[in-house]
Formats: sequence, structure tokens, C-alpha cells
Amino acid sequence: MEKKQHIDTVCVQGGYTPGNGEPRQIPIVQSTTFKYATGEDMGKLFDLEASGYFYSRLQNPTCDTVAAKICAMEGGTAAMLTSSGQAANFFAVFNIANAGDHVVASSAIYGGTFNLFSVTMKKMGIDFTFVSPTATEEELHAAFRPNTKALFGETIANPALNVLDIELFAKVAHEHGVPLIIDNTFATPAHCRPIEWGADIVTHSTTKYMDGHGSCVGGAIVDGGNFDWMAHAERFPGLTTPDDSYHGITYAERFGKEGAFITKATAQLMRDLGTTQSPMSAFILGLGLESLHVRMKKHFENGLAVAKYLAAHEKISWVKFPALEGDEDYALAKKYMPNGTCGVVSFGVKGGRAAAEKFMTGLRIAAIETHVADARSCCLHPASTTHRQLSDAELAACGVSADLVRFSCGIEAAEDLIADIEQALAEI
Ligand SMILES: *Cc1c(COP(=O)(O)O)cnc(C)c1O
Repeated sequence: MEKKQHIDTVCVQGGYTPGNGEPRQIPIVQSTTFKYATGEDMGKLFDLEASGYFYSRLQNPTCDTVAAKICAMEGGTAAMLTSSGQAANFFAVFNIANAGDHVVASSAIYGGTFNLFSVTMKKMGIDFTFVSPTATEEELHAAFRPNTKALFGETIANPALNVLDIELFAKVAHEHGVPLIIDNTFATPAHCRPIEWGADIVTHSTTKYMDGHGSCVGGAIVDGGNFDWMAHAERFPGLTTPDDSYHGITYAERFGKEGAFITKATAQLMRDLGTTQSPMSAFILGLGLESLHVRMKKHFENGLAVAKYLAAHEKISWVKFPALEGDEDYALAKKYMPNGTCGVVSFGVKGGRAAAEKFMTGLRIAAIETHVADARSCCLHPASTTHRQLSDAELAACGVSADLVRFSCGIEAAEDLIADIEQALAEI
């Protein structure tokens, strides 16, 4: 058997093996449509009887090649790109939960996902129960109902930076016969591969570290291929009973555990909702992925250096960085991410909101942006920006206090970032 390759090699080489005389770099297939000799040839594609391309809203070779790289990096069996991380999380849940269904989610998740779940998907008739990321096994069990279809959480929560106990969440999900969906945006497969810890579906906002250069908004969904839909056929009729819009195909039968989830999400959700990624964006994402493992190492080193500096500073009231010794998530961080977490540090500036704003305005290298996980350092005050729709109680439930500053360390020199922070703190 071929030896399993190290993640560094998969980042660079995964997903694309050109044949003799073919382009070394992934070709950009900038075409909406594909030509066929007969209507019958194309008909087979529409019926999912043959694989191939006919319209780039559903599938495109450049997007599929980049999805295959992400799939290999996560150790999955099938993957797809979406237009954004929001679309990826929406598809991942909506692919198995309909009106009248229920989903359990960690409360420490990205503000946009919290709003998607608690407002927009609620309007669609799907109920969510939010649990603490540190919930005990009993507390997790108590959140489940007979109509629960999935458990959802983030490896490292944005912006609360809690580390999820993936093994525990997977165990409880599987005891209730539902998959665990993990948003792995902040850890990236360079530092954590949730499928190896029991997660079933992994999602990404590729906009963040994967792209890594603030270039393209995008998302991805990866199926680990381990969840047995047929063993829980009554709970997941969308995968285990015939789809009338595809001449009665039953996805779980035709495409197996390995391919059913992504085929259904492509054939139904992408067909009908159309949140597809452009081939050009996918190509740029592919370039970013080639250096992900190198960048993550530097992001983490800078994050740790900045966290240590802040923790010893008199004007800082608290620091949250899971790999900082003494952090409440230190043990979980070491277990799930032995090579490092990510470059995002959250902290409180003494003097609250006003001091935090003065501090951020004083920074010269790090820019104030809603963005995070970029090669360039950036920072944000979530309570007055990304999370401003949330009440104080909801903010607290997400682990976001009013004084929280989220500082995303780029891949500049740590000494320069610290010098910049030092002079900005001196001004308040
Ligand atoms: C940014 C983010 C999202 C949303 O992704 P977009 O690409 O902005 O749509 C989802 N989850 C996490 C953890 C994120 O950081």
C-alpha cells in the first residue's frame, strides 16, 4: 500500500496529477458550458448516469480540481466548493435538515453562522438548540430530540477561540444516529483534520487561511465518507429514498457512503440555489493552498508570541489563545492541534470599548478590518461590528465580551507586530 503522505506534500501536490504534456498548474476552465455531439450524451449527465460537465453552476473542472485538493488535505472521500463559507455551512446543514427538523449546535460559532441558524434557517422551519462548547456528555445528550438531524461546531471558534472536544461531540452525535459537522476554518487541515477524530462532514470558509491573501470569498464542504445514511434511513429520507427530480435515484444507494452527501448537495442544492464558486476564484484558492502549511506555521508562531507579550502587559485585562500555557483550552489544543492552533488572539483592553477603539486606531501595521486569517495582520472589535446584531445575552452565549479585540496575526515578523502593539498601547 502507498504510504499516506504528510499534509505538507498534500498541500502542494494534492488533487491534481497532470498527464504527459499537460499543464503543470491547474488549468482555468473559464467556460459556463460544455459541448456535446448528441443530446443523448448530455442527457446521461443530467440523469447522473455518466459523470462529466455540462454547466458550471453545477460543476466545473477547475473548481473540482481544487475541491479534490481540499478533500485530500482533510482525508475525505468527496468535496465541493461553494461561493462562500456561509453557503458551505448552509448547504451542509440544509442537505440533511428540512422544515420541521432540529439541529444541535455549539453556541461558540462565527456570528454569521449563528445568525444563519438562529434567524434565517429558523424562518425556514428548522429549529436549533445551542449548547456550550464545554458542555458535558450529559448536557449534550439532553439537547437532542427525536427530529434532530445533525450536531454542529467549530474546531477553533471564531472569535471566542474555544477548542471543541471533537471526539466527545462525535461520540454523542453518533449515539443519536446523526453526523457531526465541523467548521474547520480557523484550524485548517494543516493543523487539524476533524475526520480523523470522528467528524463526518467538514466545512470551510476558504476566504480565510486557505486563500490566505484576502483575495477571494469562498467555501468548501468535505464528506469523510464514514456516516452510514442507510443505517439511519428513516432519519435521512433525502438521501435514502428516491429523488423524483432525478428519475428516482436514491443517493445513498447509487453513490454509497463515500459520495452520496456531496452528490446530493451538488445535484439538488447547487442546481437550485446556485451559490457556485467561479473557476478564477478556485484557481486563486488553489495557489493559496499550496503554501497553507508554511503560512499556518508562521501565523501560529506570531500568534503565540503576541499572546505571550499581551498576557504580561499591564494594560491588558485578559488574553485568549488556546495554545498559551494556562489557557482553559490548553489541553484540548495540544490534543487536537499538537503542531499549533492558528494566528488569531483575542484579548481585552483595560478601559473597555473606548480604550479598545483608541488602541486599534493607533496600530500602524495591523489594519482595522472585518477580515481575519490573512497574510497581513488585521484586527477587529466584534461587539461593535460583526456581532452588533446580537443582544448582550447572545454575545455572552457566543463567548464575545464587549471589550473583546480580535487580533489576527499575519506572517510579518513577530518583533514588528509586537513593537506596533507596544506603541499603540502606550497611547492609551
Ligand atoms: C468567515 C467565516 C464563515 C463565513 O464565511 P464567508 O466566506 O465569509 O461566507 C464561516 N465560519 C467561520 C468560522 C468563519 O470564520
